[in-house]
Formats: sequence, structure tokens, C-alpha cells
Amino acid sequence: MDVFDRIEGDDHEQVVFCHDRNSGLRAIVAVHSTRLGPALGGTRFYPYASEAEGLEDVLRLARGMTYKAAAAGLDLGGGKAVIFGDPRRDKSEALLRAYARHVDALGGRYLTAEDVGTNQADMDIVRRETRFVTGISRALGGSGDPSAATAVGVLWAMKAVALHLWGDMSLVGRHVAVAGVGKVGRALVSHLAEERARVTVADVTPAAVDWAVAGVGAEAVAVERIHSVDCDIYAPCALGGVLNTRTIPELRCAAVVGCANNQLAEGAASARLLADAGVLYAPDFVANAGGLINIAEELAPGGYHPELALAAVRRIFDTVTSVLQSAEADGVGTAEAADRLAETRIAALSAVHQIRIPT
Ligand code: NAD
Repeated sequence: MDVFDRIEGDDHEQVVFCHDRNSGLRAIVAVHSTRLGPALGGTRFYPYASEAEGLEDVLRLARGMTYKAAAAGLDLGGGKAVIFGDPRRDKSEALLRAYARHVDALGGRYLTAEDVGTNQADMDIVRRETRFVTGISRALGGSGDPSAATAVGVLWAMKAVALHLWGDMSLVGRHVAVAGVGKVGRALVSHLAEERARVTVADVTPAAVDWAVAGVGAEAVAVERIHSVDCDIYAPCALGGVLNTRTIPELRCAAVVGCANNQLAEGAASARLLADAGVLYAPDFVANAGGLINIAEELAPGGYHPELALAAVRRIFDTVTSVLQSAEADGVGTAEAADRLAETRIAALSAVHQIRIPT
């Protein structure tokens, strides 16, 4: 791969290769954009098949964070980090602390958080070397696991879609098919039950399905069938790429609103297929921004305040509404409208002049 050409293609600001011989650390930090603020994004710990695969992943994810933060109205840029290795085998305190020193050396241009393969306990270790980490435990003044906030955001995205489609934001009696009852899916299913929605679930982990059936009276279907359930809203809450040429023609929902990242397998082409099928798509990076919005509250001048954070997460309702309205007004798909929202905000705020204050 011609690394500079690749970095230039998506206009990344900075890509840092991090190494520590003793702990075996090999990591890449990508700072895509700091135009709106420090670049925030999680640390993914994953056994990539090659360096090129890890680099491609960190660049793609960092750019995605720029869009997610911008669309959510946050004063944050986009970044991401990957650590090469199998977290079950290769993770150690020494490796995490070595990594944290590299994060610290970026001086706050990059703020890290947990992601696939890392967790809150890991971030607490990172905190011992750097203050440029978010999502640390409540006991250390952080906001903890972001999953609950992500679920609240998805719920309010669903309410915005319901108001848009059916003229009523209530989910009472609406049928929602949730694919994946993990950290976010489980919290979402609980909220939907409280809203008195009808819930159908699927998960590759039988215990997750059993909890939903016994705990909130959900119906269960096979994993291969969940996307084709005849329902109001299909909520992908497991893997990315689930909206593709095979699944889209089989959808029998009015809308897709879920927390999974990168739901559109082929980007704009998948978005077009969805629109042609008459399915309303709530762009994933808008609907699933609750965790990021919650974490951003840690950076507020007064520190993290759960109620303020929750209020901020609920404003995903307004963001989704504005995306759906501008998609209609501009005659474009909802995914494109969300991209435009982010790009317009970045462009507008980048153009604000610096005013020098006399010293
Ligand atoms: P998780 O690992 O806790 O849950 C995922 C669940 O999906 C698990 O129960 C797993 O058994 C199940 N699953 C795996 N493959 C499946 C399949 N083929 N069909 C059905 N179920 C399957 O993860 P999570 O934290 O709940 O995140 C879920 C998704 O949301 C991921 O794509 C993640 O990147 C995204 N996301 C999460 C957050 C967050 O705050 N946790 C924020 C934004 C986006």
C-alpha cells in the first residue's frame, strides 16, 4: 500500500505507528480530523491478518468518527487506534501502559476510549499514564460503559422515525425486530418493553435469547430470519454489513434503526437499494452516537453529569428528524443527508476566524 497516498485520499491529519519492544506493543493511532476538536475514538485490539488490514481498518474507523461527532453536534474530531494482537493472549498491563504513553505523547490531539477487544478496566489502566482517555470507570470520575447510552440514543432515533412515518412518536404496539441482544441490544430490548412495543429477537448466543424471552416476553426467531421478520422497525445490533444485496430484497420492515456500525455493506449502492425497496434508513452513525455523546460529557467543564448526558443523548431525536427532513427537501437518501450534515458543520466551523486576544 502506498501509505501517503492512502492517507491523503481521505485527508487524514496524522497517522502514528507505536512500538514497545518489551511488551510487544504494535499499534497505529489515526487522527483523521481535529477541525472541530480533539480526535476521539476507541482503541480496537484485534488479531489483524496483516499490517495493511489493520491500517485500513484504523483509517476507515477514524474517518467514521469524524462524521459521527460532527453530525452529533459535538466539539470533537475523529480518530481511532488499533493494537495488533489477540486480546485474550497478548493483552497485559505493561502493553496497555506502553500504549497509553504513546497516546499521552500526542498531547491531547487524540482521546482514546474502549472498543472491540478493550474494556473499561483497560481504560482505567490507560488512565494511569495519560489523562487523554475517556470511558473510565465512575469511581475514577468517568462515565463508564457507553452501551446504555447508545441504547437510549437508538430508542430516540426510533421515536423520530416513528413520528416521521406514522405521525406519532409512540412505540406502543409497534413491532421491532432486534438482531443481537448484547450490551446495547439488551438495554434496547428493555426500553422497548417499557414502551410496550412488540419485540422479536435473534442472537447467536442462546443465553441472550433466553434472557429476552423470559425477561421481557420477546419472541425469538433464528438468526438467519431476523432481517426478514414482518415488522415496523428492523434494528441491527450485532454486526456490520447486514444491509446488502441478499438481505435488502428480503426486508419486510418500514424502517431500519439500529446500533451496529457500518450497516450498509456497499455504502451508497446499499442506501439506494433500501430507498428503492421503500425502507426508511436511519443512518447508523447518527442513531448509534449515544455512547459517544455520553463520553463527550466527561469533557464538560463541570465534569460528567449523568442527567445532562442523558438529555444530550436524547437529542438524537432532533438530529434524526433533521436528517430525515433534509433528505426529503434535497431529494437525496438519508445516508447522504447525514454525510452532508456532518460535512456542512465541519466546513462552517472551520471557516470561523481566529480572533487574537491582546495579552
Ligand atoms: P456485544 O458484543 O455486547 O453484542 C453483540 C451481540 O450480537 C452478542 O450478543 C452476540 O452474541 C450477537 N451476535 C453476534 N453475531 C450475531 C449474528 N450474526 N446475529 C445475531 N446476533 C449476533 O456488542 P455491543 O456493544 O452490544 O455492540 C453491538 C454493535 O453496536 C456493534 O456493531 C458495535 O460496534 C456497535 N456499537 C456499539 C456501541 C456501544 O456503546 N457498545 C456504540 C456504537 C456502536
